[in-house]
Amino acid sequence: MARYTGAVCRLCRREGLKLFLKGDRCFTDKCAFARRGYAPGQHGASRKKISNYGLQLREKQKAKRIYGILEGQFRGYYEKAEKVKGITGEQILRLLELRLDNVIYKLGYGDSRAQARQLLNHGHFLVNGHKVDIASYKVSVNDVITVSEKSRGTEKFKTFAENPKTLPAWLTADVENFQGKVIAEPSRSDIDVPVNETLIVELYSK
Ligand code: SF4
Repeated sequence: MARYTGAVCRLCRREGLKLFLKGDRCFTDKCAFARRGYAPGQHGASRKKISNYGLQLREKQKAKRIYGILEGQFRGYYEKAEKVKGITGEQILRLLELRLDNVIYKLGYGDSRAQARQLLNHGHFLVNGHKVDIASYKVSVNDVITVSEKSRGTEKFKTFAENPKTLPAWLTADVENFQGKVIAEPSRSDIDVPVNETLIVELYSK
């Protein structure tokens, strides 16, 4: 699956906020946004008036960048969300949140979505007992995600187990057994991304 391979800190500077794309580094004084909190490029530091279209575009770009996906795939989520009952904007975020790479990140395997995706691509995880290495795989309620037996003994996974994360309400974890479970679909209040999804829907429905 194609992914963005450019400089990620530039994306935070472009969006005007920390997107936490680099794990631990984001919490240190090496954070590029903390040091230069203005847009990249020659005119990045000058303030510009932003149009309504510009606002809508920025929200969409922000969501894409947080979840690490490209335009075609993002539009695909919008089209799927439109067909599902409920508020389209919330459905987009719900679909993004149910991606396996995001679930692995939320379970504490990886200090960024990018790292979680890399672990997943390397075949460390099973869903309901079957190896899955597709980042966009959509998990469902009652799915059980486990770390493969072989990977559990590695230093990396022992470190993850020793430093469990606070889980969102829709996930549970059995840290000792390297296991997580989806117990519900996330509601909007469970999704802690700083995105105004209504503006994304306005953009695509033009
Ligand atoms: Fe963004 Fe993290 Fe880079 Fe800071 S260190 S600019 S939060 S990706």
